Amino acid sequence: MAHATLRFYAELNDYLPAARRQRDITLEFRPPCPVRHLVETLGVPHTEIEILLINGVSVDLEATVNDGDRISVYPVWEAMDVGPLLRLRNFPLRETRFFADAQLGRLAHYLRLLGFDTLFVSDIDDADLVRQAVAQRRIVLTRDRDLLMRRAVTHGCHIRQDDSVAQLRYVIARCDLAGSVHPFTRCMECNGLLDPVRKAAILDRLEPITRDAFYDFWRCRGCGRIYWKGSHFEKLQGLLDTVL
Ligand SMILES: [Zn+2]
Repeated sequence: MAHATLRFYAELNDYLPAARRQRDITLEFRPPCPVRHLVETLGVPHTEIEILLINGVSVDLEATVNDGDRISVYPVWEAMDVGPLLRLRNFPLRETRFFADAQLGRLAHYLRLLGFDTLFVSDIDDADLVRQAVAQRRIVLTRDRDLLMRRAVTHGCHIRQDDSVAQLRYVIARCDLAGSVHPFTRCMECNGLLDPVRKAAILDRLEPITRDAFYDFWRCRGCGRIYWKGSHFEKLQGLLDTVL
């Protein structure tokens, strides 16, 4: 058997049992062994890792670990200070799009409210979710760490917050979304795009009180739902103030 020493930095320690945090961890393994295997043996999903070093050299997840190697594992945040090292995901997704798992319906609604293309299907199995997310180059948002350990998942965020506004704040910070918020462009219910629509064209669908009080309306291309800057807009403003 061979041995390697691993050290996890910053919040990646949260995945480790208390006794193994913030210190060197020696693991026994049978070569040849990819570094991915050692890291995930300890319960750390590969999607949460930004930089991996073996003996100080940047490597990818499939790099082979040799006897006596020293492995340093950095999360997304910490990596910002590490300099021009090879990042694991050196193909940023051109457009930031998401696939939220079944437990994150409210987060999905919020992301849509801010204009981000976010799929959410309440009764989808994990394999199907991963297949669709990868095919459509979407970032997987999930509370399930095992889902992020699936090899096919290239981009993912492990959501550990319970509160949906805190979840939203985390996704905005981690994916650097603050500058690309486009409120009132996407339907909260179905993720369809909204188009401005003339009031005259939808008069019969409005309650009298809405008809009298508002002039600007939008209609979802997907489900036909009508939006106006009433209660939704106030909710949106409140949300923006809270998270940005
Ligand atoms: Zn819709």
